Amino acid sequence: MKIAVIIVAAGRGTRAGGNLPKQWQMLAGKTVLAHTIDAFAGYRRLLVVHPDDRARAAALVDDIQIVDGGGTRDQSVRNALEALDGSDVNAVLIHDGARPFVSSDLIDRVVAALNDSAGAAPAISVTDALWTGVQGQVSGTQDRTGLYRAQTPQGFHFPAILHAHRGHPGGAADDVEVARAAGLQVAIVAGDEHNMKLTFPADFARGEAILKGRSMDIRLGNGYDVHAFTEGDHVWLCGVKVPHGRALLGHSDADVGMHALTDAIYGALADGDIGQHFPPSDPQWKGAQSHIFLRHAVQRATERGFVISNCDVTLVCERPKIGPHSSAMRQALAQIMGIEAGRISVKATTSERLGFTGREEGIAALATATLVKL
Ligand code: MG
Repeated sequence: MKIAVIIVAAGRGTRAGGNLPKQWQMLAGKTVLAHTIDAFAGYRRLLVVHPDDRARAAALVDDIQIVDGGGTRDQSVRNALEALDGSDVNAVLIHDGARPFVSSDLIDRVVAALNDSAGAAPAISVTDALWTGVQGQVSGTQDRTGLYRAQTPQGFHFPAILHAHRGHPGGAADDVEVARAAGLQVAIVAGDEHNMKLTFPADFARGEAILKGRSMDIRLGNGYDVHAFTEGDHVWLCGVKVPHGRALLGHSDADVGMHALTDAIYGALADGDIGQHFPPSDPQWKGAQSHIFLRHAVQRATERGFVISNCDVTLVCERPKIGPHSSAMRQALAQIMGIEAGRISVKATTSERLGFTGREEGIAALATATLVKL
């Protein structure tokens, strides 16, 4: 199927507020229309604009055919269809310029339905109760069975929709109405709540939220560390000094829990590991307090726009008992990381006396961290 996309943007409506028609207003750094056009990248595209907007339209993208709109929506679409007459196009998708959030999945559904039907369009069944109202009072209810909210792109076999528009008297709400008036079958495919038409000022705020949701970056990282026991009378675990009959051996303060957590954050950022940022061969880190490492990892996350959503540390040892200290450990980590203790978990397990932790030769730690960028 040779498909052309007709983007209809000739309206002058300013219900969305501001001096410019809604399709020319800015949304997250570019015009609404630029978002819409990008959604159909790869297709042959025609953009129907008000003659006054020709220059503005030409600045949007290079590979788009600009068509002058008419006095009504039908006339605007008709102009674009006539511009395609005699081309090798055999199907068209007709889309509202003010629906910038159309997804490629939705477009694919419409195109696929055109294999079996002369027309196809997305819609969402009405789920809210429907009322009639007069002067702010409910005057009746309306059965919603079989009712749909229509969206675009509305797809059609090209010769059929051209013929339908040529024969239509005008005044149709959309191209499905024109198609049906000419006796074409139009299949309904699943619409998408995000594929809304920007109409009112509040729609722009919702639109920004949709775009933010699309760009949300969620990262998960894990870390693992082991330190051996040596002579001593305390260990540092997750920023807390815990009295114990042994100490942990290490170049720094050997805080195995904090090291695992630090590596989890580096891991989420795909930013190396603790040994890379603080080489053990470098004497300046000898005996260093591990909060230096953890703060560094948090700073790297912050610099890249991430917040630490939560983290979870598991210490593996027979002794010392961690339970009595876990609350203090969570508080200590929260302070170092600058996040709430409610987002930090410190728990412990034994290894049932098996392996090196079971023989009390050392302590192992595992950690997971979730980073989010909105
Ligand atoms: Mg370590």
